Amino acid sequence: MGNKKIYDFIIVGQGIAGTVFASSLLNLNKSFVVIDSIKPREMSPSRIALGVYNPLVLKWITKVWNADHQLESLFSFCNFFENHFQTKIHFKQNIYRLLESSLDINNWNAKQSSIKLSRYLSRSLNDLNFTEKKFGQVLNSGWVDVKLMLDVFLGYIQERQIFLNKKIDYKRIIFKDDLIYYDNIICRNIVFCEGCSVYHNPFFKKAKVVPTKGEAIKIHCPNLNLRSVLHTGVLIIPLKDDIYHVGSTYDPNDTSILPTKKAIDKLTNKLSVIKKFPHKIINHLAAHRPSTEDRKPILGPSVNNKNIFIFNGLGSRGILLAPYLSEQLINHIYSNKVIESEISYKRFEL
Ligand SMILES: Cc1cc2nc3c(=O)[nH]c(=O)nc-3n(C[C@H](O)[C@H](O)[C@H](O)COP(=O)(O)OP(=O)(O)OC[C@H]3O[C@@H](n4cnc5c(N)ncnc54)[C@H](O)[C@@H]3O)c2cc1C
Repeated sequence: MGNKKIYDFIIVGQGIAGTVFASSLLNLNKSFVVIDSIKPREMSPSRIALGVYNPLVLKWITKVWNADHQLESLFSFCNFFENHFQTKIHFKQNIYRLLESSLDINNWNAKQSSIKLSRYLSRSLNDLNFTEKKFGQVLNSGWVDVKLMLDVFLGYIQERQIFLNKKIDYKRIIFKDDLIYYDNIICRNIVFCEGCSVYHNPFFKKAKVVPTKGEAIKIHCPNLNLRSVLHTGVLIIPLKDDIYHVGSTYDPNDTSILPTKKAIDKLTNKLSVIKKFPHKIINHLAAHRPSTEDRKPILGPSVNNKNIFIFNGLGSRGILLAPYLSEQLINHIYSNKVIESEISYKRFEL
């Protein structure tokens, strides 16, 4: 890396937030360096996420905050990424939501007839060949192969030597004349996309991220023959060669990073709600999602320095949120647009 070039950005963290934001910069021809300490054995939530996007909160069948705009941003991000890297990451496969009881079916039908929700709920219900139960399709849902997206992007930044595999040392960041110096890198802005590690960040001390443990498994299940994404209380995504990604648990009280037997029991119980299929667990991973108490992300500049930014609090909806937040941050930086107050970092400083 030459020490004379002035980069537009340093991005700290190459999870969903950092990767989506950096890709958006790439689309705008802005320059950047990414810093992350990637260790093969330490799993970030981004690296184990199922990558499902869902415009509905299925428990209540309500729309996610700003779902229409978030979907629009996600689809346009995926188009850009797939074209630029010539890699398929986006799978438009609607989620089939199990409707266990007649009450569930009535509720689905009632919600479907509301104008606000009809874009997201199928009018007719679906059958699957191995169960009597009915399923409603969540329209405009699907999944992104997040691990592939991260790996492809990492390869790209490594090849161009715009990646440092290190933990950032906050004490070595120097601010001078509107520029930021970090070792031999000079840049105009830093965006911190550190997930739960923001806890150590001295520039965003008040950001309240609540680590929420999630676990997911991959199973080999030759008799399931599923082609759709199912939601039976857990999500089941068909990958290839009879392998399925199944997740996730949600536990804000477990601070350990280890995968647990309890989670396996929970996931496999929910997996077999419709029918028991013999399967073998081939992979089991755990990580902590960066959630917030108000369930809103955290975006925007620090109070004291207008060229340091936070991009965090993606909770359990990282892939749907990140492209929308990237657009907001870019509009803020380059077009002076105000960041929506409910997601702004400022709410922690009041
Ligand atoms: C089991 C499970 C399943 C999930 N399924 C889904 C799903 O289906 N759909 C969905 O949208 N979301 C899902 N999520 C949630 C999703 O994973 C998170 O929303 C998302 O990963 C958050 O991304 P992030 O980039 O903010 O944080 P992270 O993934 O934590 O990335 C932060 C990165 O910053 C780096 N970093 C931190 N501090 C420093 C530092 N000081 N210096 C250098 N680097 C640093 C870390 O190494 C890491 O790579 C799931 C999560 C789990 C645990």
